[in-house]
Amino acid sequence: MIGTRAQGDALLLIARWVLPVRGPAIEHGAVLVSGNRIAAVGRAASLVAEAGDAKVRDLGDAVLLPGFVNAHSHLELTVMRGLLEEADFRSWITKLTRIKLERMSHEDLLDSARLGALEAVSAGVTCLADTCDSGVAVEAIEDAGLRGVVYQEVFGPDPAQCGESMQSLIGKLERLDAARSAPDRVRLGVSPHAPFTVSAQLFEHVADLSIARQLPMAIHAAESEAERAFLRDGSGPFGDRFRERGISWTPPATSTIAWLETLGVLAARPLLIHAVQATPDDLVRIANADASVVHCPKSNAKLGHGIAPVREMLARGLRVGLGTDSVASNNLCDMLDEARSAVMMARAVSRNADAMSARRAIEMATIGGAEAIGLDSETGSLEPGKRADLCAVSLDGLHATPIHDVEAALVFSCTANDVALTVVDGVTVYDREAGGATLLDETRLRARLAEIARVISGSTSG
Ligand SMILES: [Zn+2]
Repeated sequence: MIGTRAQGDALLLIARWVLPVRGPAIEHGAVLVSGNRIAAVGRAASLVAEAGDAKVRDLGDAVLLPGFVNAHSHLELTVMRGLLEEADFRSWITKLTRIKLERMSHEDLLDSARLGALEAVSAGVTCLADTCDSGVAVEAIEDAGLRGVVYQEVFGPDPAQCGESMQSLIGKLERLDAARSAPDRVRLGVSPHAPFTVSAQLFEHVADLSIARQLPMAIHAAESEAERAFLRDGSGPFGDRFRERGISWTPPATSTIAWLETLGVLAARPLLIHAVQATPDDLVRIANADASVVHCPKSNAKLGHGIAPVREMLARGLRVGLGTDSVASNNLCDMLDEARSAVMMARAVSRNADAMSARRAIEMATIGGAEAIGLDSETGSLEPGKRADLCAVSLDGLHATPIHDVEAALVFSCTANDVALTVVDGVTVYDREAGGATLLDETRLRARLAEIARVISGSTSG
């Protein structure tokens, strides 16, 4: 199947509700798409008159909103959905790394990532910030017609590995850059993985590279109690692993965010993934550095890490996006479920129903993510001149009936299963009515994932 390319043509999408996100909801609204950009947003009655010979699609009882920005994913790990349940964090991450490195070929990782991208388009996601070890996410995102930033991961806990890790990182970035077929849609970045897999020296070198080449950077930071103990005094499972491997480690006796500030890493204005353990002082550090945060409430809860102080982050004016993290720790790429979880957890932990509104959660899932990854001038809201990245969520399910408040309906009633249409850069990449994803072969990918799952399922012991 070939995607419906509206480029050069005009398309008028009409729906019962339009949520531009920056601006109030519009009942009986419409969005006029011209080529790959949004030409107008407003009342359907007035846009019909303006639309001339544009193709018209009336989505009926649905809400049109900006496509979701999933600000943290690991597409290559999609095949590990449900594989590593009930493991503690250290063994979860160790097993996951071993399977990825030892049991999966490049083609396996690529098809795993493609299935993740297929799930994303069918969930109304139009932009992904993906941290990736193998680099396959670039091709998968391009193939699915998505927008995104792929942060090439780099590892190296031993200071002696620093030179080698940097050389390997630079080589990978050059190869990915040369292989990109849609550099306008898919940007490259770097991701020094986490404080327990990256030495101080390597962090410093990657930050220098990020600044010198203007490559966006993402870091898993302040995620777990195990990480906090490792930085505080070298205790806990990560300290044990360093001792077993004979890697020297001098704990800085500070928080992760303070350590990253000391190393000069915050100067690269990184996207800080998780920040569950961030203290009030850390939030000041993040604000002063003009860094961003991606909140992954479901992954943090499922792995037993806790709840990030997202209310305090928002109160301080930090740029905060929402991310699903990998499906190995979620197990869904469903931004409505993520938004709902963010609201529920913020309210539950603060014992305050005012802690986060449905509207705030929708903002985090769209423009907040776009701001956090630096793409807000292009995507994240429905505004004339921006890229035509949008989705339609059907409101005709029993679970959403009746509608009194469209934002509450989206966040508290709807799920990714209600997504009817996804458009990226003016191209329809998912159309439920027309059979689903338009650019990826779902039947082939389902068969491939079943095959890869069989191979890796024997390797989870030990
Ligand atoms: Zn992650």
